[in-house]
Amino acid sequence: METQPWFKLIPQEQMIKWRRYFHAHPELSFKENKTSKEITQILASFDQITITHPTPTSVLGTIKGAYPGKKILLRADIDALPVKEETGLDFASQNDGVMHACGHDTHTAILLATTKVLTQLRSQLHGTVQVIFQHAEEQVPGGAKEIVASGQLHNLDAVIGLHIMTGLKAGTVNIVTDGPVTTGADAFDLTIQGKGSHGSMPQEGIDPITVGTEIINQLHTITSRFTPPKDLNVVTVGKFHSGVAVNVLPDTATIGGSVRTIDEDTRQAIANRIKKIVKNTCDTYGASYQLDYQFAYAAVINDPKIASLVKRCALKVLPKEMVPAGTMMSASEDFSAYGKLAPLCFFLLGGGTEEEGYPYSNHSPKFIIAEDALLNGVKTEVESVLEFLS
Ligand SMILES: [Zn+2]
Ligand SMILES: [Zn+2]
Repeated sequence: METQPWFKLIPQEQMIKWRRYFHAHPELSFKENKTSKEITQILASFDQITITHPTPTSVLGTIKGAYPGKKILLRADIDALPVKEETGLDFASQNDGVMHACGHDTHTAILLATTKVLTQLRSQLHGTVQVIFQHAEEQVPGGAKEIVASGQLHNLDAVIGLHIMTGLKAGTVNIVTDGPVTTGADAFDLTIQGKGSHGSMPQEGIDPITVGTEIINQLHTITSRFTPPKDLNVVTVGKFHSGVAVNVLPDTATIGGSVRTIDEDTRQAIANRIKKIVKNTCDTYGASYQLDYQFAYAAVINDPKIASLVKRCALKVLPKEMVPAGTMMSASEDFSAYGKLAPLCFFLLGGGTEEEGYPYSNHSPKFIIAEDALLNGVKTEVESVLEFLS
């Protein structure tokens, strides 16, 4: 690890103040109006940055380096969750029922601090740095897709993002140097239309509960019988509703589920298999159905070159023990959408373990992170940009 001269440019105290402000004023996905205004104002207080808004509640900053060169995008997501905060922090949410329970407040503060440092290093930069404060990561179809579709991002050579997670040692930078970092997440909703009848005369009806259970049993054979054992995927049925009385066969049943994959072909194959199971089973029983299948977030796949560069940079600015081998997370992220524009690196920033006093996972109403962790996020981002544009 080497101390860099620019470490002293990191606005550490200010960064924690920003983080606490955003934590106290969380806003839901697609409604980040005050958040994006605040970010815009803070960015506007820096020198040499151009600000635009690819969508109503996202903010894009552009820093043109002194010399021509490559172009890199850094991303932070800025939205909060419909969770009622129970942390007891003195800067807890002032917006009842809304909470920064996924740490996007920390992502925002880290990227603001990184941007502030980079604006001051503009005279050394060969190329362009862009910073995107992205809305609506938590709600399908996700803000990343909209930003990519806005057409405001051009000719990018790399995109870097991070996510803070409790469960990982505070301040560690965990980078998978090749391959999947998150799973992709898709979802389906199914309504089976049977025919209601008296519970004592099932032959008069079409029982949607029987059709539904047959479908669910077959869905559970997809992973075990139709995909290779080493190809990670999960098919979960999380909803099954039907009927109200013991002696009435209901008309309809509704089923909903979630599909996680890391391989694009498997993702398509599982969707096709689900459609086939639903159609064939409903046909067999004479039921009709409506199946709504949503392809939501693809898996985030790290590019070996960019991810190795970020890891090298983390090792340069952090003690070795703070850069352990990276592991995948089973959750999903709309960051994958930027893969359409350039090679990606997404890394996990440790927000504290249970032993360190941070026992609650992301999305918990008691989610608290170690604020000292933020600094290592900034150091890793700044050094990665400097090396990429050197
Ligand atoms: Zn989340
Ligand atoms: Zn998140």
